[in-house]
Amino acid sequence: MDSREFQKNAHEIVDWMAGYMDKVADYPVRAQTAPGEIKAQLPALPPEGGEPFADLMADFERIIVPGVTHWQHPRFFAYFPANVTPPSVLAEMLVSAMGVNAMLWETSPAATELEEQMLAWLGTMLKLPKDWSGVIQDTASSATFCAVLMARERATDWAVNADGLQDAPKLAFYTSAEAHSSLEKAVKMAGLGRASLRFVPTDKDRAMQPAALAAMMEEDRKNGVKPAMVMATVGTTGVGACDPLQAIGIIARANGALFHVDAAWAGSAMICPEFRHLLDGIESADSFVFNPHKWMGVQFDCSAHYVRERETLVRTFSIAPAYLKTREGVTDYRDWGIQLGRRMRALKLWFVIRSYGVEGLRTMIRNHVAWARELADVIRTTDDFELVTGPILSLMSFRYRPKGMEDEAVDALSDRLLQAVNDDGFTYLTRTLVDDRPVIRIQIGAVQTERSHVMAAWDKVVEIARGLS
Ligand SMILES: *Cc1c(COP(=O)(O)O)cnc(C)c1O
Repeated sequence: MDSREFQKNAHEIVDWMAGYMDKVADYPVRAQTAPGEIKAQLPALPPEGGEPFADLMADFERIIVPGVTHWQHPRFFAYFPANVTPPSVLAEMLVSAMGVNAMLWETSPAATELEEQMLAWLGTMLKLPKDWSGVIQDTASSATFCAVLMARERATDWAVNADGLQDAPKLAFYTSAEAHSSLEKAVKMAGLGRASLRFVPTDKDRAMQPAALAAMMEEDRKNGVKPAMVMATVGTTGVGACDPLQAIGIIARANGALFHVDAAWAGSAMICPEFRHLLDGIESADSFVFNPHKWMGVQFDCSAHYVRERETLVRTFSIAPAYLKTREGVTDYRDWGIQLGRRMRALKLWFVIRSYGVEGLRTMIRNHVAWARELADVIRTTDDFELVTGPILSLMSFRYRPKGMEDEAVDALSDRLLQAVNDDGFTYLTRTLVDDRPVIRIQIGAVQTERSHVMAAWDKVVEIARGLS
């Protein structure tokens, strides 16, 4: 494909993209596809000769689009958002054409310096400590893995990096039972074993209990186990619980443990002064991650990861002594995480923040939160429904509870309702457990969502529920 053909095809694709944005609400939200259905339409073997672009595009529309779950659908209320604004797409188009690899300053100075500056902007937007350093990781899972490795090396004075785990002291990692599974994955990948994980009990709001954390750490130290890291969460994935950072930070520090804070979803809302209190005490953290790729209109992938001491992070990953660096006085982001090759992810942040302004982004988040509160009031006043948790920011959970029905039957009905709603395709919701019982989660966070989408989706849930019983 030469550049003239590219240009012609690209115009066609941009037309398709704009059309998709206009009509995404017409699709079923969750793909209504049976397992194997897509693969069955794909040839077993790759073509020996090239095919015309028109055929590729036709098959994309015919085979692929029907098998897509539409995360940008205005009635997508499942999981957490992975929302996209048009300026973010445009930035990714440019990055894609340049095919930049941002592994070193020298391999694209603009990528590195824009990344540093965007992390500084985000730090200002969230009111993070000014002396922290930031890096864009692909996902929060990777940032948490980096934090675990940092904690492991700090706790063993870099002995594991040098000599491996055989003679290492036993380490312990603490978090609440509500925390994201990425910590368990990270601890396993770091060679520390699931047995090094401690789940701290939570209170009635499902937030970590600092006193219980302190007691567990003391117990571990008595038994010769070294507290290596505490992970607190602001906005847990299940119900949006927020751990008390200030109190946890003091305990982590007193025990010499690294303090990592995961605000993957809720972090974006911290640009609004009225929600920023959820991050009170963040200055006691050593490591902090949030995902602009969830709720800030910056498309996947883009995780902002901050550390108090960049030396600790860089020393954990650096594979060459400092004196072998290509240049002094520049940032080589290859030493800040797992990958060598890195995408240029800062351009989409720059485009999005400049296009909307911080105030524009705040308005989107405030609307989502306001509609969530309004919906919560509707659920509370609907007799045969129960609001179970929240809303915390724009996340809540509920169950359908027809009068006089036993808990066990209510739980079975909740799962049946969820399946019926998602099979219907008008909206898309997901499930979690609260006190070991299934509930249906709803979060509002898509860029195109309006108040009317929220209310229409709720009416549909009520209609389907009442048809079930
Ligand atoms: C979504 C989420 C994660 C995982 O995010 P990825 O970027 O997909 O790895 C981790 N923690 C919390 C609290 C989340 O909501």
